[in-house]
Amino acid sequence: MERGASYFGVRDLRHVENDLDRFADEGLNAILHTYSERDQTFYEETMADIVAASNDRGFTTYVNPWGVGKVFGGEAFSQFIAKHPETRQRIVGGSKEHAACFNNPGFRAFVREWTESAVGLNPDVIFWDEPHWILPEWFDDDQPDDAWVCRCAHCRERYRREHDRPMPVSEDDTVRQFREDSLLDFLDEQMAIVDEAGVDNAVCLVPVSDADHGITDWERLTANDHIDLISTDPYWGLFADDDVEGFVRESVERVTDLANANDLRSQIWIQGFGLDDEEETYEHIRTATQGSVEGGVDSVFMWGYDGCRSISSIASENPDAVWQTYLDAL
Ligand SMILES: [Zn+2]
Repeated sequence: MERGASYFGVRDLRHVENDLDRFADEGLNAILHTYSERDQTFYEETMADIVAASNDRGFTTYVNPWGVGKVFGGEAFSQFIAKHPETRQRIVGGSKEHAACFNNPGFRAFVREWTESAVGLNPDVIFWDEPHWILPEWFDDDQPDDAWVCRCAHCRERYRREHDRPMPVSEDDTVRQFREDSLLDFLDEQMAIVDEAGVDNAVCLVPVSDADHGITDWERLTANDHIDLISTDPYWGLFADDDVEGFVRESVERVTDLANANDLRSQIWIQGFGLDDEEETYEHIRTATQGSVEGGVDSVFMWGYDGCRSISSIASENPDAVWQTYLDAL
């Protein structure tokens, strides 16, 4: 079984090597390196060295598009949407939202370049982390309740081609279906590049992924020819009520069932950020980790290493205790 964590924020190979050696001593055998637009622009060779140091130590090595275009998860800015505001998702009133549109050809070309760069780092897996359409209320409380994305020129054109009529102004089931179709098509294009390069594809969907985020039908995704691993992140602090065990079990069953049905691997992420220093927290980490291991997933990761100690905006109150609890539970 893979036992891993996400790793970020350190771009000095000597420091990274110290951390990797420690992770190996702590029993990990997999590592995810975040690869943001900033990394791609300024640290490409450094990142190749970091991935190589991970491969040399026998880790299964993942790379993810951290915050790229702001359509993937991550604490990273997107220069692309700042430089190319015309590529952003649009709500019906025409305002441009804080993420690029999956149907924008310029953005797709930009992500193809990212993908080629990422596979060039020589990882084992590209990890498509929480690909999503934005929800308008995330960025602006004043949005009307029925605001939706995306009604940019490229989406309208594509909708007209596929449905042989203009895109509606009000969101309906065909729009919701269109979002899913568009996101799956985008992923298919990028995953084909990864597949062609002999690298594996993993896709992580948030457990609440639905028509608003883009992908309702996880089986359509797992039936894709290029996907190798299906992942979800049942972060109980964000999504669950008190029943952490049941919430995690549901996610474990979902990914293991889909993996078995499609000959894929399965993965669960354990919350390691934003946690209080309470005994309940450590019980939840043990419950989630052990539930994933006993549930038979192929891979368990924590987001992120050392309880996110180095990202103050999301760090856990006692990150070292969070990390140690995870390691012990594995
Ligand atoms: Zn659009």
